Amino acid sequence: MSMQHLLTRLPQVREWIEATLAQHQAQARSVASYGFLRLPQFYSADTLASTVVVEVPRVPLPPLAELGLPEFAAFQNDDYAGITYLNTYFVNAKDARDESLHFHELVHVIQWQHLGPDRFLAAYAAGYLAAGGYWDNPLEVMAYGLQDDFDEGKPPGNVEPIIRRQLDEHITPFLERVMKGDVAT
Ligand SMILES: [Zn+2]
Repeated sequence: MSMQHLLTRLPQVREWIEATLAQHQAQARSVASYGFLRLPQFYSADTLASTVVVEVPRVPLPPLAELGLPEFAAFQNDDYAGITYLNTYFVNAKDARDESLHFHELVHVIQWQHLGPDRFLAAYAAGYLAAGGYWDNPLEVMAYGLQDDFDEGKPPGNVEPIIRRQLDEHITPFLERVMKGDVAT
């Protein structure tokens, strides 16, 4: 699939995201309101206060195939414990007390913030296609790597600058290669 084709679909994906967030605004609460004890050791108080969580029976995925991106049919039809859009993440209600899941989605919040929405979406989509699926997508590899450290009891320390540095070192150059057509998607 051409990156150009994918980029032409991004405005509609963003519209779907905005509408989905608006639709769930009433059920949203800050991650700070959960009172997790370890997250404040890894994320700033600002991030925990400004990040919003919505508990749902099944996390919403954009209708990518219907928007002209059939390569993402498998992605959009899978069931996930959580998914992040901008400063908001949806979690399956049965997993809402899982602090490790919140840690993972917060990595994505910082990724959205640091890359900006269009670059996040382009990098996520290209990463998915280049890696041949969800698990090897570089943005997921980053999130799972840091989550593993968290799960293994890594000593406290603000993880946000680490995420930003990893993005600058790995994702920004990847995105540049993608835009130049040097990465098979
Ligand atoms: Zn993830």
